[in-house]
Amino acid sequence: MSSGFATCPGLFYSTSAEDGILSRIRIPGGILDSIQCRAIADIADHHGGGYVDVTNRANLQVREIHTKINSQVLKHLQDIGLGSSNTAVDHIRNIMTSPTAGIDPQELIDTRPFVQGWDDFIAAYPALSELSAKFSVCFDGGGTVSVSDRLNDITFAAVLIDGSVYLRLYLSVGAKGAPPSDVEILLSPEQCLQILAALADVYLAHLDTTSKRKPRLRELLNTLGYENYLQEVEQRLPFPLVRMRCEECQIPTAKYQHIGIYPQRQQDLFYIGIVLPLGRLDSTQMQGLADLAEKYGSGTLRLTPWQNLLLTDIPQQWVIDVQNQLALLGLDSSITNIKSALVACSGNKGCAASATDTKRHALSLAEYLETRLTLDRPINIHFSGCIKSCAQHTKSDIALLGVSIEVDNRTVEGYHVYVGGGDYNQKFGRELYQYVTFDKLPPLLEQMLKTYKIQRTNPGESFGEFTNRYAIAQLKQLFASPDSNSQTECPTISEMPMKSTVIPLQLSGQKRT
Ligand code: SF4
Repeated sequence: MSSGFATCPGLFYSTSAEDGILSRIRIPGGILDSIQCRAIADIADHHGGGYVDVTNRANLQVREIHTKINSQVLKHLQDIGLGSSNTAVDHIRNIMTSPTAGIDPQELIDTRPFVQGWDDFIAAYPALSELSAKFSVCFDGGGTVSVSDRLNDITFAAVLIDGSVYLRLYLSVGAKGAPPSDVEILLSPEQCLQILAALADVYLAHLDTTSKRKPRLRELLNTLGYENYLQEVEQRLPFPLVRMRCEECQIPTAKYQHIGIYPQRQQDLFYIGIVLPLGRLDSTQMQGLADLAEKYGSGTLRLTPWQNLLLTDIPQQWVIDVQNQLALLGLDSSITNIKSALVACSGNKGCAASATDTKRHALSLAEYLETRLTLDRPINIHFSGCIKSCAQHTKSDIALLGVSIEVDNRTVEGYHVYVGGGDYNQKFGRELYQYVTFDKLPPLLEQMLKTYKIQRTNPGESFGEFTNRYAIAQLKQLFASPDSNSQTECPTISEMPMKSTVIPLQLSGQKRT
């Protein structure tokens, strides 16, 4: 059984981080049961920092591991269905699907069998261990909680055509970070796994076995041309590919519609979407959630790619009881909770590349805002310690990119402030302020959010949509205007302790020494 170190961690491939060893446990589709949940809580308690982090691929990460996880423990985890049965493929990216697969009343198809089928397939074929660890696959069943906007190498998105369900194929082509591209191929549900196997086989056929670096699928698609790549795929299939253009097929944007209480497609059953502040759960909360899942539900917990969690299959009469029990665990399911869409990467406590303590800053910002304003819809605020933006690759309402500068021989942490997301070459969105020290950030965001609530065209307009209606200069005026609402004075650039000559040199993304 392998327990080596690797750049992409898995259960059997630990990675060294600033705060100790990091172990990542693949949870295909993000679905786990109460027994697995308790086993991971035990690992976090006995070997790690006593907590786990849900990642943006709905994996679980145990951090701060200082005592070795021995092979008996790893074997036990395998026996209860955690980690791949084939350790050689355990580092390959988790398979993504909607956290409401099979329970969403609106979905076109239950994608759980696809997840299981692909997971079984990669475990059964050792040659697939040669795939890039970042070879990522996503199945979207066409329901309310869409995952098709997440960045994956390969996405299957369900569509309804003339009363029949098909899956459209999207591939990651073009620039790094570009949204998945519709390659105009329509598949029947039975054809999905066959084309996946063929896509993987063509990748392996073009792999340079003399090179240590494995390219992303996107790089191969770009080099060969995706049409040529698909021709090679088609040669491996027992059926011809059906090509169909679809002008109105749009990838929906995630709207955090999984937080709160929702009816399932199963009569009288509900699921509860729970806010996990920055995706973190301590081991006591994990044990408590496992108990609740067993006592009130079907023993199932579902992790989301937005780093939250669902308890499912709760009979209607128990929903209030479960909510009360969640409150005792320090958890809640309110869509207006500012932490519901708050995202931060590891920050400088866990990653050497980070310019700032993103997690601490994000929680401190949330605590400040909670006492000063009430949201009526989630606002996605994304803290990133460097330009890699590990925690979130997609658009956010507000993005904060860490920067540290030296002032009078001390390091001052601050952020570039971006709004409205952006296209793939505007990774963080449009820059609103070049640099704001962290102490000025909470009142600035308070002013921005209060202005948005007053000035938006309707309650359905997101913060990103609101900012996209204005030029940056207009936004600065709006957010700085005392008339726009707040009692708090907004910091202006001229008040900030920055030296423009220093900032470009301090941009993060490089390893700090
Ligand atoms: S975004 Fe940068 S700083 Fe944050 S975890 Fe990733 S590499 Fe580290």
